[in-house]
Amino acid sequence: MRASRVAASYGARVAIAECGRFGGTCVNVGCIPKKLFAYAAHYREDFEVAKSFGWTLGEPRFDWQTLLANKDREIARLNGVYENLLATAGVAILRARATVVDPHTVEVAGRRYTARHILVATGSWPQVPSIPGRERAITSNEAFFLETLPRRALVVGGGYIALEFASIFNGLGVETTLAYRGPRLLRGFDPDLGGRIAEELRKKGIDVRLRANPAKLEEGIRVTYEDAAVQEVDLVLFATGRKPNTANLGLESAGVRLDADGTVAVNEYSASSVPSIHAIGDVTNRLNLTPVATAEGMSLAKTLFLGEPTRVDHVNVPTALFSDPNVATVGLAEDQARTQLGRIDVYQTAFRALKHTLGGHSERTFMKLVVDAASQRVVGAHMIGPGAGEIIQGVASAVRLGATKAQFDATIGIHPTAAEEFVTMRDKVPS
Ligand code: NDP
Repeated sequence: MRASRVAASYGARVAIAECGRFGGTCVNVGCIPKKLFAYAAHYREDFEVAKSFGWTLGEPRFDWQTLLANKDREIARLNGVYENLLATAGVAILRARATVVDPHTVEVAGRRYTARHILVATGSWPQVPSIPGRERAITSNEAFFLETLPRRALVVGGGYIALEFASIFNGLGVETTLAYRGPRLLRGFDPDLGGRIAEELRKKGIDVRLRANPAKLEEGIRVTYEDAAVQEVDLVLFATGRKPNTANLGLESAGVRLDADGTVAVNEYSASSVPSIHAIGDVTNRLNLTPVATAEGMSLAKTLFLGEPTRVDHVNVPTALFSDPNVATVGLAEDQARTQLGRIDVYQTAFRALKHTLGGHSERTFMKLVVDAASQRVVGAHMIGPGAGEIIQGVASAVRLGATKAQFDATIGIHPTAAEEFVTMRDKVPS
């Protein structure tokens, strides 16, 4: 959508083919409804904490149908907004699935369209391990439309979607298990994040099981793990990664090179092996994040229609998991920094937020800075805690601009906030 609109604003004649609803995964079955659910889930704790501030509430009751209906209404509104934006930008809308016929031809609903450029932005789809009984489980796609909330849920995986949905279910009162095959959640993130978020999730009531992976699902749902442990639950959600949507699009026959996992192979200007065919977003499996995809779309429009070859810099992209508490990060993890830079300084802090001092709530906020010892530049900032995404967004600008630890320290904090800790960390963690 962004590529179409921006290309049209640069004078290109654009058509877009969409067989689903406008807005893609993010708007329909991703970021937006997920965050609405995350807000809903957090109220349970908010009601608890409110008591320590003197509030008396009746017994809070949660109604899933109300949340679903309100969420659906908001998403339908957004679908309309997006379609209008396209129409206003002069983009022709083709409401059907498209297939690529040759490097300059696309077929949509039996009609052929020719174009100087074809852009593939078909996104990705949840991937489920091929274990017996996998059809009894759902993925995030279905989780947004459940008729009723289960009493007991098992979420499988240790990445973004797993942590987010485990937190959502748990907050909404579902007895929740999170099972991850590895020894530590959030592989690829700073090692402290994976270890500490597991502790925080457990404190919130989630049964976090590590080195635990379902081997089969039977009626019930009866889950048998690889180590023969058995568990009965009412819903299993696989959050075990996503696969690019490239099947049956005609890409290979048009000469587009795909990687083994179906990803469209592209260069830094998002060009595929066929010069007239480009690809952006999850279908290219670079950084599968909405703002990265939109940045790739805008860069491509500039490259093709403004004569300004533009690349997206995929380094120092901040990201957040909207688990409870949030996890957010920018830059290098401690282990990555050590490998890439050799000598590093690490600063970190963990504390109970002011909001929780009255009620004795045990949630702890964690913050960490990774600094290149030679240049003193801050190369990584990591956080677990309320609003981590909001806080790391600001820190990301400093990291991107190459700020040094001394420049962080020279910044005056806003008191009392959690964020001020990022500019007041004085003691290095002994190496
Ligand atoms: P992730 O890659 O984040 O996590 C997948 C998890 O599933 C990993 O823990 C992985 O384990 C595990 N896994 C993979 N295959 C298997 C298997 N066969 N059996 C058991 N476990 C398995 O993917 P998600 O599905 O959570 O999300 C997809 C992507 O979408 C994310 O990577 C992110 O880019 C994006 N996203 C972003 C969000 C945000 O910005 N807030 C929210 C949701 C999604 P291991 O680590 O051991 O491989």
